[in-house]
Amino acid sequence: MPHYHAYDKSGSLKTDVGTLTFDSLVNDMADLRKAGAALGIVNPTLIDIGNSANGRPILALRIGKNPANRVLLVGCHHAREWISVEVPFLVGKYLIDNYKATPSTRKEKIINHLVDNAEIWVVPMFNPDGHLKTMTSGEHMWRANTDSVAFAKNTPIDREIEKTPYHTGTFNDGTDDFDFKCYKIAPAASGTTKTETEIVAAGVYEGVDLNRNYAVPTGPVGSKSPPWGTETSDESTTADQIAGGFFEIYNKTAAPVGAMVESGWNLTTSKSPLPSPDTFCGPSAGSEPEVQTMDALLKKGNFKSAISYHNFSQLLLYPDDAATHTETQFLGRGMKKLFKNQKVKYSYESGSGLYPTSGDSMEWAWRVHNVVNYTIELPPTNADAVANNWAFNRLPESKIQGVFESNLPVALCAINCAIANFTPPAPIKNKSGRVIRTPHNCWEEFKGWTP
Ligand SMILES: [Zn+2]
Repeated sequence: MPHYHAYDKSGSLKTDVGTLTFDSLVNDMADLRKAGAALGIVNPTLIDIGNSANGRPILALRIGKNPANRVLLVGCHHAREWISVEVPFLVGKYLIDNYKATPSTRKEKIINHLVDNAEIWVVPMFNPDGHLKTMTSGEHMWRANTDSVAFAKNTPIDREIEKTPYHTGTFNDGTDDFDFKCYKIAPAASGTTKTETEIVAAGVYEGVDLNRNYAVPTGPVGSKSPPWGTETSDESTTADQIAGGFFEIYNKTAAPVGAMVESGWNLTTSKSPLPSPDTFCGPSAGSEPEVQTMDALLKKGNFKSAISYHNFSQLLLYPDDAATHTETQFLGRGMKKLFKNQKVKYSYESGSGLYPTSGDSMEWAWRVHNVVNYTIELPPTNADAVANNWAFNRLPESKIQGVFESNLPVALCAINCAIANFTPPAPIKNKSGRVIRTPHNCWEEFKGWTP
């Protein structure tokens, strides 16, 4: 049974989520590198893609023989998302363990085809500093990296909100009634906003959300995914409750009637310009060493497809702006069918279908580097997270193998379709032009695939 990995610790460790047996990622990656090098399919000198904010190498495996078809499998942007380390690691291990000098079975020939015709970059733990922090007492829910961000003096940060509330209501605190108003966060350019100023107290703050730090440029008109630096919020409203955005509360029956008694922000899912929430986007676009490292990697070029693993919710997300992109949708629908074929449900939707964010890797990889790419939110489902208390790093280790097995065909198809340029194969016709056979799509090869 696979264990969870810690960056460079192994054995029994006491954590907030119980005493668990961990394997060292440093050691296991070294073993894989050695095994792959012996087969001539892994570059033995490539150890990492760069360093984290606190100087830890961001470990990588470069598997395969054809740099014209690069594929990226990356896990653990978010420290607490432990299962997201294991899936890319196990896919990389699978490719190395199953590559044959002389393949004979159909499966062996397909695995050799993938490795011989692509270059697969496996980066299982993108956020090693944050991941290690989740092993320390009281910190298992840490999400960001552990970079130190200094504010030399008290710093005002302006936030633009719409002038007109989108949701209003009344509540009673047991004695008096209060009115409340909720305002959407709005781009300053809209011209219909007012400014609310927050003061960040001078000090040094720890942690930037790496998946809010990417220098996402402005998208096409109508794009639901804003550029870096735009604040977004989950604006779902429930009658008589304060919803997302900026809120104000006024006395309705208590004296002085009509006076504002409280205001604040209700931002649970957005990026934040303030350094204490765990979705802090950082002091500037692309400020974090991890994010700069990813940029340098993709600048090598030829990255045809990529999967960034997160958890949880069981979702297969594509970049907003690629909603009508033929290749993205061709591969995405194939991946969705492969999950279905494995009898697991991953909802297929655009990134902003989940909630609008800015500065995330998916929109960035698409807009800046033109990579056909997806975010996979691994198990548990929301229902299992609630029913079993399995959220983030509480999924039992007995589940790791099953999560890997249902994701394996999806990862393999992302490699195969990159090699095939995401093109459906042409039907084979006889002399009179009648279709006699339709070859497998690049994803159909992986139906019913088991390790
Ligand atoms: Zn995540």
